[in-house]
Amino acid sequence: MGLLKKNFIFQDVNELKGVGTKLSRYLKNKKIEKIKDIILHLPYSETDRSKISELNQLEIGKIQTIKVIVKKLNFPRIRNLPNRIMCEDDTGKIDIIYFNSREGYLRKIFPLNETVIISGKVNFFRNKYQITNPDYVTTIDNQEYVAKNIPKYNLTKGINEKKYRQISEQVTQNLPVIEDWLSEKFIKQNNLLNWNDAIKKLHNSDESKNNKSKSFRRIVFDEICANFLTLSENRKRIKKEKKNKVFNEIYAKRIIKQLPFQLTKSQKKVLDEINIDLKSKERMFRIIQGDVGSGKTIVSLISMANVIEAKYQCALMGPTEILSLQHYELAKKIFKNSSIKVEFLSGKTDPIKKREILSGIKNGEINLLIGTHALFQKKINFKKLGFVVIDEQHKFGVKQRSELAQKGGSNCDVLLMSATPIPRTMMMSNYGDMDISKITEKPAHRKKIITLSKPEKKIQELWPFIKKQVNEGNQIFWVCPLIEESQFLDFSSAKRKFDLINKKFPNLVGLIHGSLKKEEKENIIKSFLTKKISILVSTTVIEVGIDFPNANLIVIENANKFGLSQLHQLRGRVGRGTKQGMCMLLFKEGLSKNAVKRIKILKNSDDGFYIAEEDLKLRGFGDLTGYQQSGNKNFKFADPIIHEDLFKLAEKYIYQTDKYSDQSKYNFLLKLFDKAEIINIKEF
Ligand code: ADP
Ligand code: MG
Repeated sequence: MGLLKKNFIFQDVNELKGVGTKLSRYLKNKKIEKIKDIILHLPYSETDRSKISELNQLEIGKIQTIKVIVKKLNFPRIRNLPNRIMCEDDTGKIDIIYFNSREGYLRKIFPLNETVIISGKVNFFRNKYQITNPDYVTTIDNQEYVAKNIPKYNLTKGINEKKYRQISEQVTQNLPVIEDWLSEKFIKQNNLLNWNDAIKKLHNSDESKNNKSKSFRRIVFDEICANFLTLSENRKRIKKEKKNKVFNEIYAKRIIKQLPFQLTKSQKKVLDEINIDLKSKERMFRIIQGDVGSGKTIVSLISMANVIEAKYQCALMGPTEILSLQHYELAKKIFKNSSIKVEFLSGKTDPIKKREILSGIKNGEINLLIGTHALFQKKINFKKLGFVVIDEQHKFGVKQRSELAQKGGSNCDVLLMSATPIPRTMMMSNYGDMDISKITEKPAHRKKIITLSKPEKKIQELWPFIKKQVNEGNQIFWVCPLIEESQFLDFSSAKRKFDLINKKFPNLVGLIHGSLKKEEKENIIKSFLTKKISILVSTTVIEVGIDFPNANLIVIENANKFGLSQLHQLRGRVGRGTKQGMCMLLFKEGLSKNAVKRIKILKNSDDGFYIAEEDLKLRGFGDLTGYQQSGNKNFKFADPIIHEDLFKLAEKYIYQTDKYSDQSKYNFLLKLFDKAEIINIKEF
């Protein structure tokens, strides 16, 4: 029988008995904030306390449960001496030791000459068994509470098993009985479990350890569905009716004719896809994916020309000042011989200029505004905004995407550009709310980057090569990996490398690391762009999108710390100009088979999409870092490799089978996975 009310589980944990401010703070450290988070906090193992051992059978160092008679209590009046409770059964004796426990409390739980159940880790000291600070002490009528398999949760300072159990059992043993959103038939057909049974199993058996167990698969399926539902709802909200844009591609055709190169087939195809969206009576919500340098920005600028021809304004937002400035320079070049007026706005624009821009935006004189987040300030009022383009959007979540779309207004089309290739299985869970365009070809003239690898201890062999590059006026990126999740350690390793290289090439080296201020960072990047320095040492904090036409070598240290896709993106920073690009991967000794495979893939392919797929497959061998760093944290339980079939099933389920049914039955599910707020569900 479920004792909890359905919506009770969405209350704060301190609604539970025994949870006060202090404990709830500890729980919050474990991301347990609402009662439902306890449901989702699965045990990672079990402690077997089920067997009652006789004292002559005890195994030292193991957690065991005993049934003994309390014979004597000893409370020494000397500081630092522990309290000692002497117990025995028919077969032997044991001492229970307490440091810092009150006498009154111990006398209460150890009544003299009574039988008690004790569970804890057994030690052997001065020829005698003892248990120090046992996990459980209880009377025999409570034997069943202790002598059993007890789930083991990953806990934090301030909470022990016993305490957490008092809290978690209030929830897991009194789950609300819910009406399952999956039909019995569906559950059976797909070898899942119903929700209530699955959750019970996960907390009271070892099934939570096995990510292929029925109950675990059920929670995985739920998680994926919650994610897909959110995206699908988001899409419905954004893809509303709008005024279609009318244009004849007059500007666009002129611009294309004047380009010093031919657009690739991919670029033309994507342009067509965008134009169809612009002309349609539904809002566009599309993402262009393509490797760095594949020509996304040009495509977006040409489509903006169409929007401007249709008498609407456009906004192009980049993630940083420098990147947005580069877009601005490119736009000025492209729109040079047209009447299109382009302006640039960032947090740094001086106030007089800014006022001028604001008025130009308001009266419609400015057709295209390029800049940073500053574009979306409240005081910026477009006369008739029709198109928002956002570059390198992979830092935005669904919620932010949705907010951005709303800001543009109801006639505003939205286009995102991303250089992060994503494997197929993850595409759906990341961008299921958007239409997808892919630029799969590179501009014809671009040469494939030569990728080499070397063990780090042969770094000496590198210096003459680097010297030659510097003398020829080439520029070099030197990437030091994230060693720890600590900015300080990253900094110290990058700093040491900087010192070393700076000694060899004095005054020609710059250092960028995570703890620099944005402005300091940008200044160093500028001095690299203007060739004041030749070598840029950094942790991975430089934006991938910036064009450094003169950089042709990138050295990546400890390269096996990065995911393949990340390495591919990093090397995409070089070879953008006319010179051959090169990438040198440095490795510590002793590469695993897996690492060797990875290098081979990188050396042989320059297709970001292919590399992303391979990356995901190989990741199965235990190399998670790359993915975590690239921010793919959409899921707590689901794993795109292990649960690939469930991703496919969920896709079918959400987008086909269940399209026409009553969506409100999912409200509980969406709240469970914190999605409700994103799609504004208040009650269920
Ligand atoms: P992305 O935004 O995908 O990183 P950009 O649009 O910034 O790529 O293009 C990178 C560089 O390649 C720019 O200097 C651009 O002018 C050039 N470029 C774009 N498309 C082509 C093409 N089809 N042929 C040759 N060069 C191109
Ligand atoms: Mg770009």
